[in-house]
Amino acid sequence: MEENRLNASSKPVLNFIEEIIEEDIRNNKNDARVHTRFPPEPNGYLHIGHAKSICLNFGLAKKYNGKTNLRFDDTNPTKEETEYVDSIREDVKWLGFDWDGEYYASDYFGQLYEWALVLIKKGKAYVCDLTQEEAAEYRGTPTRPGKESPFRNRSVEENLDLFVRMKNGEFPDGARVLRAKIDLTSPNMHMRDPILYRILHTEHHRTGNDWCIYPMYDYAHGQSDSIEGITHSVCTLEFEVHRPLYDWFIKELEIHAPQQIEFARLNLTYTVMSKRKLLELVRDNYVSGWDDPRMPTICGIRRRGYTPEAMRNFAETIGVARRENVIDIGLLEHCVREDLNKKAIRVMTVLNPLKVVIDNYPEDLIDELDAINNPEDESAGKRKVPFSKVIYIEKDDFMEVPSKKYFRMSPGTEVRLRYAYFVKCESVVKDENGEVIEVHCSYDPASRGGNSPDGRKVKGTIHWVSAAKALDVEVRLFDRLFSVPDPENVPEDGNFKDSMNPDSLKILNAKAEPYLKDAPVMTHYQFERIGYFCVDADSTDNKKVFNRTVSLKDSWSKIEGKQ
Ligand code: ATP
Ligand code: MG
Repeated sequence: MEENRLNASSKPVLNFIEEIIEEDIRNNKNDARVHTRFPPEPNGYLHIGHAKSICLNFGLAKKYNGKTNLRFDDTNPTKEETEYVDSIREDVKWLGFDWDGEYYASDYFGQLYEWALVLIKKGKAYVCDLTQEEAAEYRGTPTRPGKESPFRNRSVEENLDLFVRMKNGEFPDGARVLRAKIDLTSPNMHMRDPILYRILHTEHHRTGNDWCIYPMYDYAHGQSDSIEGITHSVCTLEFEVHRPLYDWFIKELEIHAPQQIEFARLNLTYTVMSKRKLLELVRDNYVSGWDDPRMPTICGIRRRGYTPEAMRNFAETIGVARRENVIDIGLLEHCVREDLNKKAIRVMTVLNPLKVVIDNYPEDLIDELDAINNPEDESAGKRKVPFSKVIYIEKDDFMEVPSKKYFRMSPGTEVRLRYAYFVKCESVVKDENGEVIEVHCSYDPASRGGNSPDGRKVKGTIHWVSAAKALDVEVRLFDRLFSVPDPENVPEDGNFKDSMNPDSLKILNAKAEPYLKDAPVMTHYQFERIGYFCVDADSTDNKKVFNRTVSLKDSWSKIEGKQ
C-alpha cells in the first residue's frame, strides 16, 4: 500500500496534455478558456476505449473549470442510427459525466456548405469527375507523388455551378466530388487534394432527405470544433497525420482555431476494440448482443457488473500516453475488484453443490446464524443465514484422499463452516462410478458461530448453503472472448474470430442463501471465496440470474507485488 502511494506521488504531476493546457492558460490563449468535446460517430456502441476518451475530455474540463460538449459526428448517413445516439448518451451519463452542450455535426451541414462555397471562390476547392479508381491512381502512393486531376483547373464559376447542382441532386451517387486544392506532391497523403463532399442520395437519421451531398469527416470535424469554440481537440494518434489538413481548413476559412492534440488509444490484452469488429460479433451471433457481458462495450461491462467508479479509476490509473501501448486486462479487473470490495455485500453461494448431512444435528431444526455483510463497511450491518441438517458445499471443497496442502474437507479432518460450526467428515456415499455424492459429518455444538470452543484450531474454512432453505439460481461464468493476448493482430490469411475462446460462457445451476431472493437487478455481491457477481436483467421472480463480474483471484496485485 505504502509503496503504491509513493509510486503515485513520484509520478509527474501533469500529463502532457495538461502541460499544454496550463501553458495556454498562462498565455491567456482563448481567454484562458478550456473547452473540450467527446465526438463519437453514432455507428455503434461505445467501448472501453471510448470510456478512456470520455474520462479524459470531461476530466480535463473539470480540472480547469471548463466545459465539454457531446458531439455526434454524424456525417455518414449509411452507417448511423438513432439507436446508437441513445446508447451513447446513456453510456456517457452512466460513466458519471454531464455534457454542457449536445451537438451534431449535421447541425452544421448548412454552415459547412457555405464554407465550401467560400473555398471554391478562393480557388481552394474544385469539383472533380474522376471515378474512384482513377482518383486513386492520380493520388499516387506514399512513395510516388500524385498527379493533378484534369478537372483541377476548372474555373470558379464552373465549380460553383457544378457544386450547387451536386447539392440540388442533379447527379447520381459517385458521379462527382468536391476536393480541396492543396498539394499532390505532399508526402502526407491526406494533403493530396482530399475530398470534402461526396454525393449520397441517402436519408440521414436527423436531416432526412434535406441533403444528398455529405461532408467528409476531415472537412466536418475541425470546423465543428471551431463553431463550438472548442479550445483543445483531443483525439487518438491515428489523427496525427490529419492535423495539417485540420489546420489548413481553419486557416483558409479564417475561423477560430482549436488545437488538435493526439494521445495513444487504449488497447487491452485479450480484447478487440474496433466498432467494426464488435459489430461483426453482434451481427453474426457470436455474442448475445452489444450488451453481452463478455463484450468490451460500456453497456456490456455495465451488465457484467463493472461500476463507473472502477472505470474512472482505471482511466486515471493508465493515464495518457503519446505512444501506442497495450494495457493488461488484469489492471481493469483489479480496479473493479478494489471498488466492489468496498461496496459488495458478502453472501454464500455454492456453484457446484455436494450434499453434506450432519448426522448428529437435530432433524428439523433450522437455526439462524449471524453473518457479517461487509467486513470493509461496518454500516452494511449483519444478516441471518439459516443452518440445517443437510447443507451444500462446493464439490472441490471435499477430497476423499487429500493432497499435501489440502486443508478443506476430507475424512477425519475438522474444518470450519463459515459463521456456523466445526464439522468433521465421518463417511461418504458413492454412486456406481465411485464418485462421492454425499458426505456425512459430525458437528461440535459448542463451536456455534464458527468459534473454537477450547482453543483447538482448524486449518480450513469453507462456505455452505442450507439445503432446506437454498435458493436455486443461475450463475453465468464469463471468460475472455479471445484466447490470445493480441486478437487484433491477425495473420494475413486469418480472421480475428479464429482466436475466439470457445468456452467464454459457462452456465451453472447453483445454490444460494435465501437472502438473495429479492436481490434487485444490477446489485453487486461478493460470493464468498469465489468472486463478484451482479444480478442480471434476465432474472425472473422464480429464478435469479447472476453474472460473474470478476473472480477474487487478483493476478494484477501479484504482478505488482513482484516488482
Ligand atoms: P473504433 O476505431 O473503435 O471504431 P472510432 O475511433 O471510430 O472507434 P469514434 O466514434 O470516432 O470511434 O470515436 C470517438 C472518440 O473516441 C474519438 O475521439 C476517438 O479518438 C476516441 N476513441 C476511440 N477509440 C478509442 C480508444 N481505443 N482509446 C481511446 N480513445 C478512443
Ligand atoms: Mg471513427
